[in-house]
Amino acid sequence: MNPRDPPSNPRGASLINTRPLLLLISLAVLVLANFFSSTSFLPRLRLALLYDHLSLSSPLTTSPPAMTTLFSRELEIAQLAVQRAAQLTKRVFHEKAKGTVSKDDKSPVTIGDFGAQALIISALHHHFPADEIVAEEESAQLRADAGLRDQIWDFVRATKLDDVAAEGLLGGPVPNADAMLDLIDRGNSSGGARGRIWVIDPIDGTKGFLRGGQYAVCLGLLVDGDVKVGVLGCPNLPVDDAAPLDAGAGADATDGEGRGVIFSAIQGQGATSRPLVTGALAEGKKITMRPVTEMSTAVFCESVESGHSDQGTSAKIAEKLSIRNPSVRMDSQAKYGSIARGAGDIYLRLPTSKTYQEKIWDHAAGDLIVREAGGQVTDTEGNRLDFSIGRTLTANKGVVAAPAAVHDQVLRAVKEVLVTA
Ligand code: AMP
Ligand code: MG
Repeated sequence: MNPRDPPSNPRGASLINTRPLLLLISLAVLVLANFFSSTSFLPRLRLALLYDHLSLSSPLTTSPPAMTTLFSRELEIAQLAVQRAAQLTKRVFHEKAKGTVSKDDKSPVTIGDFGAQALIISALHHHFPADEIVAEEESAQLRADAGLRDQIWDFVRATKLDDVAAEGLLGGPVPNADAMLDLIDRGNSSGGARGRIWVIDPIDGTKGFLRGGQYAVCLGLLVDGDVKVGVLGCPNLPVDDAAPLDAGAGADATDGEGRGVIFSAIQGQGATSRPLVTGALAEGKKITMRPVTEMSTAVFCESVESGHSDQGTSAKIAEKLSIRNPSVRMDSQAKYGSIARGAGDIYLRLPTSKTYQEKIWDHAAGDLIVREAGGQVTDTEGNRLDFSIGRTLTANKGVVAAPAAVHDQVLRAVKEVLVTA
């Protein structure tokens, strides 16, 4: 069943036939509600009715209260899909990347990227066949390289959640290598402002992945260009939300005991973290950003790669804000997750070139998770990130993410430093 299909609602039909006045009043209320809502209310209501009608609450979700069922199925499938894909990336790391003499060999990234993308799309396509998908990879390279394709297929075939019900919920195995290539190519949507579009970065932070540092399996759902659901699987971050971020956070943190976390959010319903496990979803906990009462003690995160964010300029911004701590450098959207749970406070991404356009898959999930945890996310000019334009954030330059209460203050410092840079 495609959630975009209009719900068949016999109760609604009888109202239309017998109570025209009531219908008029209802319509007026709907129009007013739509006017006052910051998001499109009518599609939300229609989906809510559909979910209500079909009783689509899932046996694997711990306790969705009645008012929060909207997108709960999408969130559950997304989290399980990310959890399964992360099992693949972890196995690829241990079997192909760990201990390799030369990190110049990028094939572990290629295998992990394609394999994780195929598994995620398989689950999404099973549940939401009409939805579009924007994903980073396309299969052309694999179609021309049977050896590589077979290596990836070996991982995809062998990766399952070890809870039968959870694995079953993801729609069962990918049938064969050709089906895997076709699934990978389903991620070729050009994005845009209309309809339901999933956004996937199968391995965000490839350098971090190779060195056993931070990386993230990222999945978001856009509806009419707005992020409604976000999931980040971070295999090498501590499970403990309270674990402090220090300068070594992005260094080797191979997924040992006490590591692996999933961050998630639904628009309007807050943000959550839960341990990244190998079967059914673990119990989740609400996360919130830490209030910054004294800017000098704030912890700010940025990319490890100096080519991805201008570290010299961020140091000047930190100085202007009197921040005493050195920046915490880590790869991937693990930065968004880390500030969302209050392990850090601020994430700065400052353009290193005038022409680079940020990719929507590098930000969609993190943007929602931080905002749902009490943060504000804008670009360096103060504009919200605009995911409705296509595969890139054409209208934005860089990222400034901080607790809502201090975001203005941080943005002011960013603008002042950038003007003189
Ligand atoms: P991070 O780990 O936060 O440094 O971000 C990793 C992402 O940076 C990758 O997924 C790339 O899509 C993206 N990226 C590549 N080149 C650039 C660039 N010049 N500026 C900003 N981001 C980039
Ligand atoms: Mg990425």
